[in-house]
Amino acid sequence: MNEFEAIRRMRELLPDAPPEVVVPIGDDCAAFRVGDETWLAAADMLVEGRHFRKWASPEGVGYKAVAVNVSDVAAMGGRPRFVLVSGGAPEPETALRVFEGVAEACREFGVYPLGGDTTRADALTVDVSILGVAEAPPVLRSGAKAGDVLAVTGELGASAAGLLALEGGIEGYPRLVKKHLRPEPRVEVGLAAAKLGVHAMIDISDGLASDVRHISEKSGVGCEINLDLLPVSEDTESLAKSLGRDASFLAAAGGEDYELLISAPGDILDELARSIEVPLTTVGWIAGGGVVFESGGDVVENLSGWDHFP
Ligand SMILES: [Mg+2]
Repeated sequence: MNEFEAIRRMRELLPDAPPEVVVPIGDDCAAFRVGDETWLAAADMLVEGRHFRKWASPEGVGYKAVAVNVSDVAAMGGRPRFVLVSGGAPEPETALRVFEGVAEACREFGVYPLGGDTTRADALTVDVSILGVAEAPPVLRSGAKAGDVLAVTGELGASAAGLLALEGGIEGYPRLVKKHLRPEPRVEVGLAAAKLGVHAMIDISDGLASDVRHISEKSGVGCEINLDLLPVSEDTESLAKSLGRDASFLAAAGGEDYELLISAPGDILDELARSIEVPLTTVGWIAGGGVVFESGGDVVENLSGWDHFP
């Protein structure tokens, strides 16, 4: 059984949702009504050996665990408010250092820690649950429509490039390393996008190539991505080149960028671009069936095969 199969089987065990649940499991956050308000809830866990290695400081792991949860609230167009933080560490001093990072991220993103639990564990583990509040109807993965344009915030591939620098002990790329260790969730963009009524949104955690499939599947539309349009910075290009890798591949499949992928009519995206400080780049369109990647006018059949040194 793989992870997806296990999640599918877990879903079958879910009881019927009470009427307050307006978006069940399956999007970046679930959404539920409390009085007149719509609240958002999500959880994300980081585990040593799987999500980070010894190059990550405990403080950094705590910070990132909060940041990636904030990103899921941003992807619904909500405002993050509260977290619950649990974790395991080999010794109490490490747990304390993790919480120093958690507290710093809470200050940075305006969230308040309501509680949690700690235990002794061989592998450092941090599990964060987040609550946010919607200031406009939550933006789902399922709303993309024919005629929409697909756009991404910020840049892609920098986090994956930073990870390559960390894993390879490559010096000289502090900006990329920081991109990997301290993601910047796009809360203000998400809020603005929801208020403008964009059709669909997701945060890019697994990589654009993977996350665009969620939009396609949930919306029942095809997506066409032009890999030549992906926003890639010069340092990402230069690090990729020094390793004989293709920067566009890092941008398409690298993951952990925590940028937003947004589907909306072009005029709404133009208005959004004018109202935010982060760059917004068109990377594709809602089109025909399935998900198609193209580069230089050719269809790229298999993204992992497309990387010269996968
Ligand atoms: Mg997400």
